Amino acid sequence: MLQSKLFTKILREAPKDEEATNAKLLTRGGFVYKTSAGVYTYLPLGWRVIQKIADIIREEMNAIGGEELQMPALVEKKYWESTGRWSVDIGYEVFGKEEDKPNFVLGWSHEDLLTPIAARNISSYRDLPAAVYQIQTKFRNEPRAKSGLLRGKEFLMKDLYSFHASEKDLLEYYGKVALAYRKIFERCGLKAIYTLAAGGDFTAENTHEFQVVADIGEDTIFVCGKCGYAENKEISKLKSGGKCSQCDGGVEEKKSIEVGNIFPLGTKYSEAFNFKFRDEDGKEKLVVMGSYGIGIGRLMATIVEVYNDKNGIIWPETVAPFKAHLLALGSVDGGKIYQELQKAGVEILYDDRDTNAGEKFAEADLLGIPWRLVVSPKTGDKIEVKKRNEEDAQIVSLSEALKILS
Ligand code: ATP
Ligand code: MG
Repeated sequence: MLQSKLFTKILREAPKDEEATNAKLLTRGGFVYKTSAGVYTYLPLGWRVIQKIADIIREEMNAIGGEELQMPALVEKKYWESTGRWSVDIGYEVFGKEEDKPNFVLGWSHEDLLTPIAARNISSYRDLPAAVYQIQTKFRNEPRAKSGLLRGKEFLMKDLYSFHASEKDLLEYYGKVALAYRKIFERCGLKAIYTLAAGGDFTAENTHEFQVVADIGEDTIFVCGKCGYAENKEISKLKSGGKCSQCDGGVEEKKSIEVGNIFPLGTKYSEAFNFKFRDEDGKEKLVVMGSYGIGIGRLMATIVEVYNDKNGIIWPETVAPFKAHLLALGSVDGGKIYQELQKAGVEILYDDRDTNAGEKFAEADLLGIPWRLVVSPKTGDKIEVKKRNEEDAQIVSLSEALKILS
C-alpha cells in the first residue's frame, strides 16, 4: 500500500475529547474516527487490524467445531419477551417513523434470537452437540463512554453459542472454549487471566471472564501471586493481601480489562422457548446451552493499552495492519524495493510521500508497524532495518531483508 494513497491522515495532536490512551493513539494514527461518543468508524488501517484479530478468532472457533453464521441486528420484541429480557435497560429500542411504539431492540446479545432458530434444527440427541458463532455489531446504551474503544455504545463482538444433551457435555465444551480463548489472547500478544465472575443479565450461574491487567481497566480482580487463581471483586470473598483459597499464595488486587466472558447458561433459554430434544431412550429433555463472547474492538484497544510507548503504538506482528513500513528519505526512490517485497508476499506500507525525514520517522513510530525499513542517500543500495520495539538498526541487502521478513 502506498502511504500517499492511504485514505486516512495522521494527526499531529491528540484529540482533545479523548482521555484514554487507546483512543488518542488510534485516532491520531488514523485507525479510527469517533463519529459520536462511544461510536467509532474503523478507518482502513484500523479495519485491517480488526480483520487480523477476527481471522485469529475464526481459526480458533472453527478448530473447536464452531460454524459461522450471521444474525440480524434488529431483534423483535417477541423474542425478548419470551426470555423476560425486553425490560433490560441496556438496549436501544427501535421503531419506524410511522410507528408509535418500538417493536424491536438492536441486538445487545443473541441468545433470545438464536434459541428458537436452534430449536428448528435440533430435535434429537443425534443433532447434539452443536456450536455456532458470529462476528457482529452489538448495541448497548453505555452511559460511561470515557475509555475509548474499550466501551462503545456500538461495538464488534464475536459471540459463540453451544447446545448440548447434558450439563456434563456442556462443561466439557466450556473447557475447550476456555482453551481456545487462551490461544486467541496469546496469539494477540495478551496475557489474559481466567477469572471467576458473576452471570449478569445472562445466567444465575457463575461465569468466567478473561481479564487483562491494565490501570485503565474498569474491573477489579483478586489474583493469587502463586497459582494465578483469580476472582472478580464483585463476587469474591478473597481479600487483597489475604490468602488464596486454592493454595497458600498471597492475593493481589489489580485493575483489569474484561476482553472475554464465557457463560454456562444451563437451561435458562431452552426453558423460555421450550427447546427440547429426544434422548436415546426417546425421552424429551431440555437442551443445555452455553454462550461465549469476545469484544473485538475492545481487544484491539486493549492491545494498544498494553503495547505503546511515548511515541505511539507497538503492534504485535500477529495483528499489525502491515508487517513492514518502508520509508524513502530525501530524493531516494524506494519503489523497486517496495515491489520486490510485495512480490514476496510481505504486507508493506510504503511511505512515498514528499515529507521530511523527521516527520516520517515520527509517524512510523505512531503507526507502530513492527518492522521499519529505511532507504536514504546514506544507505546506498542497502536497507536499514529496525524493529519498532528495539533501539538498534541493522544495514542489510534486499535479499537479507526479504529473509528477515518472510
Ligand atoms: P462489561 O462488564 O465490561 O460492561 P459485559 O460483561 O457486559 O461487559 P458481555 O456481555 O460479557 O460484556 O460481552 C462479551 C464481551 O464483549 C465482553 O467480554 C467485552 O470484551 C465485550 N464488550 C462488552 N461490552 C462492551 C462495550 N460496551 N464496548 C466494547 N466491548 C464490549
Ligand atoms: Mg461480561
